[in-house]
Amino acid sequence: MARELLGVPLCVGSCYQVGPFLVDTGPAHGGRALRAALEGERLDAILVTHGHEDHWGNAARFPRARVLGAAGLQLARGIPLYRRVAWGEPARARVEPVGDGVDARGLELRPFPTPGHTPDHLAYWEPSRGWLFCGDAALGPIKYSMLGEDRGRYLASLRAMRDLKPEVVFPAHGPVMERPREQLGAQVAHLERLRDEVRELVAERRSDRAIARSLLGREGMLGLVSGGEFSKERLVRELRELG
Ligand SMILES: [Zn+2]
Repeated sequence: MARELLGVPLCVGSCYQVGPFLVDTGPAHGGRALRAALEGERLDAILVTHGHEDHWGNAARFPRARVLGAAGLQLARGIPLYRRVAWGEPARARVEPVGDGVDARGLELRPFPTPGHTPDHLAYWEPSRGWLFCGDAALGPIKYSMLGEDRGRYLASLRAMRDLKPEVVFPAHGPVMERPREQLGAQVAHLERLRDEVRELVAERRSDRAIARSLLGREGMLGLVSGGEFSKERLVRELRELG
């Protein structure tokens, strides 16, 4: 599902139907398209990876499905304007703990904790097929930190997903990974390389801001529009503080 401006997709969020289950729901803006795509399908449960609204924003559109996620999952509240414009206004949903996961029709989805992007982030693992639905736990070659992220835990989760040896990884943003060990490994390597470059510049007594400029460029539109919720300088600080 995409939010478009003049026909150009700006913000794209994916969700996945797995038998009678849906992993995430995409953003509220895509709700009508999602309802149409699932017309006539039986939906028993929606499994939410984490509390950002582009992942559960349509949960309330499927009142017969249970909404499941991490125990005590906090859904986003007080959502900033730029995110409401990007993703739409979600209707509140009630989330129950997913426990050990769900199974039906020879499919199972087991929670696989992947903290870092949020503290309670879950991926969902279908062991017999080797499918991993990873939400926002693998965001590609990142240049920004989002407020609330923990870079050390994010990196540990990337390594854990790689070491799980999935056959296919289905992220919420970006293309499906058909060579996930290699692709997740590349994401780990990107962050490790960036961490090492940050360390070299720290040794030259450069400030975080100067390091961010030099390695990642200016804060740019996303940093500005988000009022600093997305920040390159914070990513540098997180990498500097990594053990
Ligand atoms: Zn997120």
